Amino acid sequence: MRIYKEFTFEGAHFLPSAPEGHPNGRIHGHSFRVRVSVDGEPDPETGLLVHFDDMKAALEDARGTLDHNFLNDIAGLENPTLELISRWLWDRLHNRVQGLAEIAISRDTCGEGCVYSGPDTSAH
Ligand SMILES: [Zn+2]
Repeated sequence: MRIYKEFTFEGAHFLPSAPEGHPNGRIHGHSFRVRVSVDGEPDPETGLLVHFDDMKAALEDARGTLDHNFLNDIAGLENPTLELISRWLWDRLHNRVQGLAEIAISRDTCGEGCVYSGPDTSAH
């Protein structure tokens, strides 16, 4: 079973890898939506997989760092693509959100997003 909690943030960025003259190379902003999913089984007593309040502090910390910020200035987000923001969020949350299964991030206006299920450990 999978549950999720969402939050949104506003952020400005540019993509250093954008080709010369491409709009992504200029500073611009997005409304981002993040969905944090947790896998598990509901507790027989409470009927809850995890109490949403238990995820709240970790998600608020992450949101507080990202919201109304210039993402390129944040350590680890010098190249703030959806892919690397997803990984940054995973690295930040996986020790604090028990059962973390997936980070999904999208930009409200573009219909584009990224879904990350953590590092690929199948090779190990
Ligand atoms: Zn952008």
